[in-house]
Amino acid sequence: MKKITVLAGDGIGPEIMNSAIAVLQAAAPKYEQEFQFDSQPFGGAGIEDSGKGLPSKTLASCQNADAILLGAIGGGVNSSWEKAEQTPEQGLLALRKALNLFANIRPISVPDALLALSPIKKEIVKGTDFIVVRELTSGIYFGKPRELQKTAAFDTCYYTETEITRIAHQAFQIAQNRNKKVTSVDKANVLATSKLWRKVVTAVSKEYPDCTLEHQLVDSCAMRIVQQPTTFDVIVTENLFGDILSDEASVLPGTLGVLPSASHSEKGVSLYEPIHGSAPDIAGQNIANPASMILSAALMLRQSFNEEKMAQAIEAAVFAVINEGIVTADLGGNAKTTEFTAAVINKIKA
Ligand code: ATP
Ligand code: MG
Repeated sequence: MKKITVLAGDGIGPEIMNSAIAVLQAAAPKYEQEFQFDSQPFGGAGIEDSGKGLPSKTLASCQNADAILLGAIGGGVNSSWEKAEQTPEQGLLALRKALNLFANIRPISVPDALLALSPIKKEIVKGTDFIVVRELTSGIYFGKPRELQKTAAFDTCYYTETEITRIAHQAFQIAQNRNKKVTSVDKANVLATSKLWRKVVTAVSKEYPDCTLEHQLVDSCAMRIVQQPTTFDVIVTENLFGDILSDEASVLPGTLGVLPSASHSEKGVSLYEPIHGSAPDIAGQNIANPASMILSAALMLRQSFNEEKMAQAIEAAVFAVINEGIVTADLGGNAKTTEFTAAVINKIKA
């Protein structure tokens, strides 16, 4: 029995989570014996339940789970959330920290089914298939001291050798199962943390002689992502650069609505979530694209439970349905969230 903590969250979170669970149930015929879902309040829903973005019972459930599915949180749906003792976003940071989810994995691919819908020219994005591995629990988002003064402010970017080493291993291990090419992104011509980053990643690469390593400065990498996205296999980078580059890369498929992500710790539980936010502008209307959440569930099957076949069946069904033109509004169609979900389930069962 696999214990899955379900954090539907806010905005479109509950709608797309319903879709993902229904698809999981369709993909695993004996799901009642295979999966045990434990739904817990989180984010704004956590505040409404017990005053905090991350209620203690929610954290306890996550710590006890074999995997976590997260919809999306926050989005200012309710202004009282911002005044809570712990806001939805603080709840998410607290959860990442408590579970030590230091490695954020974002696969970016443009399957043929999506080619026509991409905002970037077909000739450029055709065949795009890479993974951004972003360090998630250190760097300038967490470094101290930090201070906002009246007419000045400062933050601290801080990395240790240990932190860089473990994220580099993640990247090379992923590359070993793919095309064996790692692009490490930094700003080593300017930043001390980047000089250390480059040195440590190079040292780790010696343990992976089957993989090639290249270094690229973040500014030129940002250009290459839109000019030659097919030339990447695995990109590994620090927290801030990874945040920006992975959002940039998410434009390539044409919508945020098809992109899943995974966050891993060294040995503990992993968390799977769409890369987009809670999309309050379209919440409650049954028009959100649930593909991002369904594909996140497929990633969970693959990476946490080794259920490669089931994961592939779900992915194939999602892209077959898109290929048939049954798509939600973000992809220019008029399928409802529930219609798209039903079509995916029919494909899986067929
Ligand atoms: P956050 O700060 O939480 O990352 P954000 O400000 O980046 O959120 P999102 O919630 O990701 O914003 O939404 C950005 C835009 O993309 C919105 O217009 C939203 O409606 C749209 N969007 C996001 N996810 C989906 C989805 N699954 N289906 C359709 N549209 C979506
Ligand atoms: Mg965002």
